[in-house]
Amino acid sequence: MPSIPELFATMEWGPAPEAAGQAEAWLDRHRRKFGHWIGGGWVEPSGEEWFATINPANRQTLARVAQGSAADVDRAVRTAREAQQAWWALGGHGRARHLYAIARQIQRQSRLFAVVESLDNGKPIRESRDIDIPLVARHFYHHAGWAQLMGQELPGYGPVGVVGQIIPWNFPLLMLAWKIAPALAMGNTVVLKPAEFTSLTALLFAELCGEAGLPPGVVNIVTGEGATGAALVDHHDVDKIAFTGSTEVGRIIRAATAGSGKKLSLELGGKSPFIVFDDSDLDSVVEGVVDAIWFNQGQVCCAGSRILAQEGIAESLVARLKVRMETLRVGDSLDKAIDIGAIVAPVQLERIEALVAQGKEEGAECWQPSWSCPTEGVFYPPTLFTEVSPAATIAQVEIFGPVVVLMTFRTPDEAVELANNTRYGLAASIWTENINTALDIAPRVKAGTVWINCTNVFDAASGFGGYRESGFGREGGKEGLWEYLVPLVPTSAPPLPAPVAGEPVLREGVDRTAKLYVGGKQTRPDGGYSRMIHDFAGGAVAEVGEGNRKDIRNAVEAARKAERGWATATAHLRAQVLYFLAENLSIRATELTVRIAGLTGVSDAEARREVEAAVSRTFGYAAWADKWEGAVHQTPFRNVTLAMPEPIGVMGVVCPEAPSLLGLLSTILPPIAIGNTVVAIPSERWPLLATDCYQLFDTSDIPPGVINLVTGSSDGLAAVLAAHDDVDGMWYWGSADGGAEVERRSSGNMKRTWVDQGKSRDWFAVSSEGPEFLRQSTQVKNIWIPYGA
Ligand code: ADP
Repeated sequence: MPSIPELFATMEWGPAPEAAGQAEAWLDRHRRKFGHWIGGGWVEPSGEEWFATINPANRQTLARVAQGSAADVDRAVRTAREAQQAWWALGGHGRARHLYAIARQIQRQSRLFAVVESLDNGKPIRESRDIDIPLVARHFYHHAGWAQLMGQELPGYGPVGVVGQIIPWNFPLLMLAWKIAPALAMGNTVVLKPAEFTSLTALLFAELCGEAGLPPGVVNIVTGEGATGAALVDHHDVDKIAFTGSTEVGRIIRAATAGSGKKLSLELGGKSPFIVFDDSDLDSVVEGVVDAIWFNQGQVCCAGSRILAQEGIAESLVARLKVRMETLRVGDSLDKAIDIGAIVAPVQLERIEALVAQGKEEGAECWQPSWSCPTEGVFYPPTLFTEVSPAATIAQVEIFGPVVVLMTFRTPDEAVELANNTRYGLAASIWTENINTALDIAPRVKAGTVWINCTNVFDAASGFGGYRESGFGREGGKEGLWEYLVPLVPTSAPPLPAPVAGEPVLREGVDRTAKLYVGGKQTRPDGGYSRMIHDFAGGAVAEVGEGNRKDIRNAVEAARKAERGWATATAHLRAQVLYFLAENLSIRATELTVRIAGLTGVSDAEARREVEAAVSRTFGYAAWADKWEGAVHQTPFRNVTLAMPEPIGVMGVVCPEAPSLLGLLSTILPPIAIGNTVVAIPSERWPLLATDCYQLFDTSDIPPGVINLVTGSSDGLAAVLAAHDDVDGMWYWGSADGGAEVERRSSGNMKRTWVDQGKSRDWFAVSSEGPEFLRQSTQVKNIWIPYGA
């Protein structure tokens, strides 16, 4: 007689299929053919093109879906525009009731949603039923709350307007919820394009909106492939694009929206590290790996696809993983007894196979369990690569499949170095029983989400989004709401005096010239040229150095060198330095007043007002330095979820032309107060106020390299800074054309940009100091720390 444990180990699993009848009936009701959902009802597409959406577990066609044309997109955008004012006018409470109704309705129909999702995407029903759909409902509940509280919690802000949203196929309904719930809560209306492989739950959701009584036109769904998405991105009357998908397409969208004035948030790819220290609980780690890379077949942008194991436990971890992998079951998505479902589409399977083949060619060791996958559908087995070099393709490229690579490290520093050896920065997972180790490593890993002793946990109350080429903007939490808001009353300034006409005359020789300020030193411009600066009446006043590409490179290098020390200095210390600067500035007030009046032609009183405002602003950022706090999010698990604002890194700042002193300090101090280092291009017209400050910076104990100033042509230097791959973020105040160029060029390394579209801001206004600037100086990292048993 076999023992009971033996029986458990040897018994065959019977299938435990979820019934698909209701879902099939829904598809049949639509004759398995769907148009777009526009203005609260089904709309025939303008063209004649349709495409099939298949069940990847058996390759059978589920339905045909319309290929949206530019005309369809236009119709949807116009409808969303017409609905937007009334939706906003409904008020927070009115919108909250609608979002709540949607949440309730999703809960009521949760089983239907889960089945349709699993049929269309191939993901295990256990995941769609227990993870995706409950999170969708939670997202609408949570954001019903934000709609209700908007007036109290976000005073002075209103909706962006009409939002175009483009989502991927890996979490079709969940991504829809992440996009639609916050947009609607804040008073926007939306046009959403689901991914071509997985349109069905978005269409079911559209119908649900109708049943739940959502006003027509608030949610519009246009289906189609990439070209439909591109038409939405290009539409002139869309105020914001929110995109989740590949970094390649994100880059195209960044370039396509440059200069359009559209707000943009991008949630892109990842190659997230899963760091295992040798004091971790290895049994938990093994289950963690299962969740990290075999959840949703590894088609997860934040999948822990790079295991970094400390040398002492690597061998044991690999052995345990192999044992666990043998027990995983791949199969039909509606079978409740499987762990891994189908890959979304044959094209994705080919991509996985090609990358695995490349991994083997490059010399890595590939291991797969002994059983084989079902043959009728699109399946791929769980796969582990060892002996992987950090530069190997499979260690760098996002595979988006059930394939994990394992590398080893010796020390915590080496772990951090390996973890950050990627162009991405979406998430990281850290496994250790030592809280000191965990909390030492968490801030050092460049990633928007860090999970300690857990992985792939999400919640509506916590922000999610990337660092680096994983994109920018957050979804979820209060930090996610800003993506869907604009200030209600834009500030505006009196017009500037007309500049002196004509091109600047460049001269050779820079002996009596104000130089550049790089790495705490006054340096000659590399090109050896200078430009004459004139006053308001056209009189020549003094020459300043004409910075070039090389000067920008030197300045970025200096800023990078200073970055780590400044970012990890205490906020108290940064505050002290800024107070000292304010004090020194006020000592030089008279001299600066004379300079401003002489250059710009304003009255002495006006000039004095600017200097006083500049002193006050400097005190302001000294005060802010230790008060820009994060939050502890209320996520429904036994854990603390810390939302920590972290500096962006090295920032390029193109300062406003005028007021030149107040404008300079208003734009370089917020990033610095928070721990960034800055390469700034001072006012092209009146840079002398900046060059007058070099000594002030020196005497105020600002560490070398924290502030770097390169004078010269604003737009010429801005273009170089925007294209520089070691600049992490960029602010620009200037012309519409210059701003467009900055946005376009920033797509190389996906730097965060904040471009004022040539609109003049009132730099004296209270709103020109504080939160808006500090938000743009930081990115929120969410750190999940579970506690208890
Ligand atoms: P994935 O690798 O996740 O499929 P993609 O970036 O290719 O990511 O697709 C994500 C979404 O972007 C899909 O809805 C797709 O149709 C859409 N898309 C693809 N190309 C473009 C484009 N050029 N402009 C706008 N949307 C696009």
